[in-house]
Amino acid sequence: MKSKKIVLHFPKDLVNKPIVYRLIKEYDLSFNILKAKILPDEEGLMVMELEGDESDYRKGVRYLKKAGVSMQPLSKDVRRDDEKCTHCGACVVCCPSEALSVNRKTGEINFETEKCIACELCIPACPTKAMVLEF
Ligand code: SF4
Ligand code: SF4
Repeated sequence: MKSKKIVLHFPKDLVNKPIVYRLIKEYDLSFNILKAKILPDEEGLMVMELEGDESDYRKGVRYLKKAGVSMQPLSKDVRRDDEKCTHCGACVVCCPSEALSVNRKTGEINFETEKCIACELCIPACPTKAMVLEF
């Protein structure tokens, strides 16, 4: 039995297709969606824990790749060192999951960890090195 946390990136033309449904139905895998951002006409992101028999798992992953879904393991976590954050906003534009956003009332930058997919794009974008990677 294999169980792994993975991040799936769905290209725009695949967001409305029943990819996950087929993955479960045809490859006998079970899943638990941890985070998801799926909007019409936009690239979709999903973080899930996928579980199943080793060979079914491999076949399922092959199916995803063939369908055009790119996949990466979620083995890391990104956190913000609030002492170092100056709320400059440089990280907001590069965050694909909207985990980083501007608080319209205070002007501060919110970090919603439950939306973070650990893509690491904000790490080089932060001038004060406030965004850090943890394993
Ligand atoms: S780029 Fe760094 S310092 Fe600027 S708001 Fe983001 S986390 Fe804070
Ligand atoms: S790692 Fe940074 S850029 Fe990527 S989703 Fe998390 S907060 Fe956003």
